[in-house]
Amino acid sequence: MPVYETHGASTVIASDGDATQTRPQLPTPSLGRFALLAMTEGAMPLRNPIRLLILGGTSEAGALVAAVARREDIAPILSLAGRTGNPKPARIPSRIGGFGGVEGLCDYLSCNAIDAVVDATHPFAEQISANAAKACAAARVPLLVFTRPPWRRDPADDWIEVDTVEAAVDALGTERRTVMLTQGRLQLAAFARAPQHRYIVRAIDRPVEIDALPGAMLVLARGPIELADEERLMREERIELLVTKNSGGAATYAKIEAARRLGVTVVVVRRPTGPSAETATELSAVLAWIEAHRPAP
Ligand code: NAP
Repeated sequence: MPVYETHGASTVIASDGDATQTRPQLPTPSLGRFALLAMTEGAMPLRNPIRLLILGGTSEAGALVAAVARREDIAPILSLAGRTGNPKPARIPSRIGGFGGVEGLCDYLSCNAIDAVVDATHPFAEQISANAAKACAAARVPLLVFTRPPWRRDPADDWIEVDTVEAAVDALGTERRTVMLTQGRLQLAAFARAPQHRYIVRAIDRPVEIDALPGAMLVLARGPIELADEERLMREERIELLVTKNSGGAATYAKIEAARRLGVTVVVVRRPTGPSAETATELSAVLAWIEAHRPAP
């Protein structure tokens, strides 16, 4: 089900089941396989598939991809930043890499005749969400943010809530503690100014940023991680503090629950305030929104 893109310095990928290949760029956007079927078989013209750009990199994006992958009336394209070395093969046509800021995304929307955008990026991916809001407004393309509600503190939780990762470093205190870091690789270097702690870093791939923390232990794992595994790791490594962003969602919640059970203090980085945009937290609402933004035949 290839979709050819006409713009961008980014890699252009077409995905067909498990096979993923790089394709040449063509001058016009694809009409999709169903338009092609209609043309070649002389069948009744089908409804024009809505050309949907999904900004991904999250489990929400994964759920949306799964929901639209077999839809004949939706022509989706998944966009990934390319941060993960070995992303799971996409079940829909996909592209990898930045667009080149607001202007690049604007060009992409118009060159690829995108009808609607679902921003299903992580709640802490501030830049791409801000860019999407500006580009969609400029290109007059409807935008929906698909996100998960933040985690709420349970009365049994021992949380220290902070606004930034820098503040999380301060919250660890001056005494040596054993700290599990799960806030993401980009902010690992911030902890270098508190070298008194013993750090356990959990990540999907080995982050080069871990070199800033000599002596840190690396645990490689891709979520979702089971509660029992979180508890075992925290117990075996005698974790005293856990650092996390308030990502929300079920996929990474087990660490919060494990910390509660074991009495581990959690330093929680609050969410940034995103751009004001129409927002949905349920897949059914996203699908209804897509339906409502289908272009007129
Ligand atoms: P970010 O700071 O908001 O974005 C930085 C730049 O990366 C953007 O300006 C854009 O480049 C490019 N980019 C980001 N997401 C993209 C996407 N889905 N498709 C194409 N380009 C994208 O993003 P981030 O915090 O580094 O996160 C990168 C990706 O990882 C996101 O897709 C996000 O969903 C996922 N993720 C982030 C976190 C987190 O904690 N931040 C956690 C889990 C997953 P251009 O300006 O060149 O277009």
